[in-house]
Amino acid sequence: MEWIILMCVFSTCISAVHTQKFLFSPQWGPIGYKEHDERGHGTAMDEIIKANEFQASRMLDGATTLREGDIAVSTGRRSKVCFARSCIWSKSVDGHVYIAYTLSPEYSEMETELIKKGMENIEKGTCVRFVPWTHQRDYLDIQPKSGCWSYLGARGGRQTVSLQSPDCLQVGVISHEFMHALGFVHEQSRFDRDNYVTIMWPNIWRDRVRNFEKFRTDSLDLPYDYGSIMHFGMYAYSQDGEPTIIPKSSKNIKLGQTLTLSHIDKLKINKLYKCG
Ligand SMILES: [Zn+2]
Repeated sequence: MEWIILMCVFSTCISAVHTQKFLFSPQWGPIGYKEHDERGHGTAMDEIIKANEFQASRMLDGATTLREGDIAVSTGRRSKVCFARSCIWSKSVDGHVYIAYTLSPEYSEMETELIKKGMENIEKGTCVRFVPWTHQRDYLDIQPKSGCWSYLGARGGRQTVSLQSPDCLQVGVISHEFMHALGFVHEQSRFDRDNYVTIMWPNIWRDRVRNFEKFRTDSLDLPYDYGSIMHFGMYAYSQDGEPTIIPKSSKNIKLGQTLTLSHIDKLKINKLYKCG
């Protein structure tokens, strides 16, 4: 009998210690977000997770939800499936891909500058050009709605890109959302990602496990890009501060990107849009 009581006391102690470790561990931060990893700043996606998990609601409106954390999907509308090659923006005869946009008047001058810097990140070294909307049928409507998100690829007509102020107004975040609008999904959603990274399923916040699904993507014959601005950080959606994605080749590889596109991100754009 004493033995059973002793066992009960022991297991209660163990679970109390565990709970305490979870709640008060210095590693523990808001769920799904880690302030900085040991090797520097958080990735663009870390900032997006922070903004979307703590500011935005999951359901953007009655018919729109977020997939993978920041890709808007309309449930009401029969949305086209955009995996890289479909849903691309049309190309002009001069070889450029002009993407028209409108900017909400709610943005300050400084915020407008940041958004333009995010556009320049995409334009540099590619044939994509963002142009203020005049009459174009398809265009981006950039709005400070709730959270940072975009639809995938060109949907036809007006499509919203949400860049909430101030949380989403960071150059890397802005460029990341424009990459979605160009048609790119997250790098670790690639169908062949298991050759390159290990997803640490038990460390993922249970409600967000779906954000780590793989998709039948077209990798455009480009190598897996650990440093893509579209890659989740090592601690994305961690429930206890432990890594959720570990590179297979070396643990010292930094995942994701903070400020701008990687070299391979540019190649992706140039291949998908057949830039000269
Ligand atoms: Zn994203």
